[in-house]
Amino acid sequence: MKILIVDDSSTMRRIIINTLSRIGYSDVIEAEHGKAGLEKLGQGGVEMIITDWNMPEMDGLEFVTVVRTTNSSIPILMVTTNAAKEDIVAALQAGVNNYVVKPFTPDTLKEKIESLLG
Ligand SMILES: [Mg+2]
Repeated sequence: MKILIVDDSSTMRRIIINTLSRIGYSDVIEAEHGKAGLEKLGQGGVEMIITDWNMPEMDGLEFVTVVRTTNSSIPILMVTTNAAKEDIVAALQAGVNNYVVKPFTPDTLKEKIESLLG
């Protein structure tokens, strides 16, 4: 399953990639902000998106909103430090399927991904 990771922190992308690899997902592509994420998505084959919120160029909330104008079904997991209830509500309203607050444990990420995949 090809997973697109969108995060402006290369360290955080590395952490997410390492965690995914430990739980059995190794087909991963990366983008450093929402605009680049849309380009990668346009190349096709992506089956799940894991995105940060706070990024330059295009943040995660705008990215998710744009993705949802053309793709209502791809699972989207947001991984962010924004833990306020109103932020979580805003993300869900934009079309995020699930939400992980940083810092997270590998088990938390695994659980969220598995619940997304049903
Ligand atoms: Mg960020």
